[in-house]
Order: sequence, then structure tokens, then C-alpha cells
Amino acid sequence: AKAVNRGRFSFFSEEMNSMAQERLALEGALRDALRGGDFELHYQPQIHLRDHRLHGVEALARWPHPQLGNISPGRFIPIAEESGLIGELGKWALEEACFQLSDWRRRGIKVPSISVNLSATNFHDLELPQFVSDLLQRYSLSPTDLTLEITETVLMDTNPSTNQTIAAVHALGVPLAMDDFGTGYSSLGYLRKLPVGELKLDQSFVRDMVKDEAVSALTNAVIRIGESLKLIVVAEGVEDADQYELLIKQGCDVAQGYYFSRPLTADNLEIWIRDFMA
Ligand code: C2E
Ligand code: CA
Ligand code: CA
Ligand code: CA
Repeated sequence: AKAVNRGRFSFFSEEMNSMAQERLALEGALRDALRGGDFELHYQPQIHLRDHRLHGVEALARWPHPQLGNISPGRFIPIAEESGLIGELGKWALEEACFQLSDWRRRGIKVPSISVNLSATNFHDLELPQFVSDLLQRYSLSPTDLTLEITETVLMDTNPSTNQTIAAVHALGVPLAMDDFGTGYSSLGYLRKLPVGELKLDQSFVRDMVKDEAVSALTNAVIRIGESLKLIVVAEGVEDADQYELLIKQGCDVAQGYYFSRPLTADNLEIWIRDFMA
């Protein structure tokens, strides 16, 4: 029996070892991909429910890996967070989004603004505001051409730089959006203290709002909060006509989800916009 146990033990430790090795390999590949320009941004349209104007697009990072295929953000974001590469990813996404928007503007393609996802780590960096301001200048963009999406982890962050960085970004006039709203802690308290202009109603609420009255009561409450604080409420993960209609009925401002479009490459977004305008 002892021999069997020992065998098991070494089996598990080898498995753990290979998991750790795989992670390490992925971390190395991530670093190379980031520095080698292998990452891409895809863009998902956000639509005003009242008049079907395009509100903007959310930029979502994609990692097409030559051997492993597309590695999902669900897999690479945690590795980027743990390895400290997430700061670099956020800055890369900011620059890529600015470059893309200036290219669209130059060619007369009407994208009102781009939302970029940033990590808490990005707000530890006191140079973030200057970085953003330099990008706006370099690409001839105005502050409202961007929106920075932050999650509650940014707000709960005790890092001493965070408040200062948020205030400086806000002072530049760049709007902030509270992502995944309703999923974490103390969202309401933070709303009072923070210069957010947009609330993103988490997709878990949108998913269940039609089939669960308690959830639709919650989405309604979030939309009322947004209304009274004069924030734009963006519903995420809208997949069908029933959700779309209920959101209109509740007075939600903007919606985003597969019902309108999946996240698209820059080229495909142009085609989508052409059809959308037609
Ligand atoms: P998120 O910011 O909440 O982004 C929304 C996610 O929902 C995206 O997943 C999007 O593709 C997906 N989605 C959009 N519409 C629908 C829908 O109708 N139904 C469903 N089921 N899903 C929908 P994605 O692209 O896999 O990204 C996952 C997360 O990874 C993002 O969640 C965000 O937290 C993170 N992420 C992505 N790109 C970046 C980035 O450039 N920087 C940072 N820091 N995080 C990023
Ligand atoms: Ca987001
Ligand atoms: Ca979200
Ligand atoms: Ca999310």
C-alpha cells in the first residue's frame, strides 16, 4: 500500500509540476507575443437603445497563437495579472486603440469612441495620465474619444498611487466606466466618490433578467441609480430580443452583446458599421 501511495504522490507532484511548467511557458510566450506585436484588438459595438446611434466600441484583447490557436482572455489575463505583464498589455491596448481610431477618423469611418479595459496595476503607475495624454496628442484625439473601463478591484485597491492616478486621468477629461457593475462589493459607496460617467451592467444580470423577476428588479434598480446619478448605463451580454426589449422598457441607455454583434476585427467592424448605417 505504501508503494501505491508513494506512486500517487509522485504522480500528483509531477502533474503539478507540469502545470506550473505550462504556466511558465505560457508566461514566456505571452511576453514574447506582447513585445513581438502578436496581440490584436477586436471591437464590439455599443448601441444606444433610444435611437440606435452607435455609442462606441469596446476593445477586447485577442491572442492568436500560431501553435495553440486562439488563447482566450479568460486564460491569458490571469497569467498577465500574476506575472506583472498586465500593465504592459493595458498600455499596448491603449496605444493600439488610439492608432486604430485615428486611422478610422482619417478614412471617415465614424466610430464615436473606444473603451479600453485597464487593470488595477495600470493605476499604480503614476505615469499613466501622461502616457494617455501623450497618446491623445500623438494621434490627434480628444479625451472623450477614449473611455477607460475599470473594475471594483481598482476602487478597492489600497495602493497609494491609485487615487491620484484616477484623479489625474479624470482631470484630463477621459471618461471612466465602471465595468461588471453589481458583481463585487460596495459598488454604491464607490460611485459616490468616483468620477465614473458610465456603469456597465454585468452580463450575469442581463443573462437572467427575462427568466427571473428578482434579477429584473435588480437591473431596473441599477438603471434607476444610473439615471439619478446621470450616468450612462451600458448593458453587457445582450444576446436576444427579449433581453433587448426588457432593457428598452426599463430605460437602459446603451446595449452591447451578441444580439448586435460579436467582437470584430477592425476590418470587419468597418463592414458592420457600413451595414449598420445603411
Ligand atoms: P469584460 O471586460 O467584461 O468584457 C466582456 C466579455 O463578454 C468579452 O469577453 C466579450 O467577448 C464577452 N461578450 C460580449 N458580448 C457577449 C454576449 O452577448 N454573450 C456572452 N456570453 N459574452 C459576451 P472576452 O473578450 O473573452 O474578455 C473577457 C475579459 O477579459 C473581459 O471581460 C476583460 O475583463 C478581460 N480583457 C479583455 N481584453 C482586455 C484587455 O485589453 N485588458 C485587460 N486588462 N483586460 C481585458
Ligand atoms: Ca470591459
Ligand atoms: Ca464587463
Ligand atoms: Ca467580466
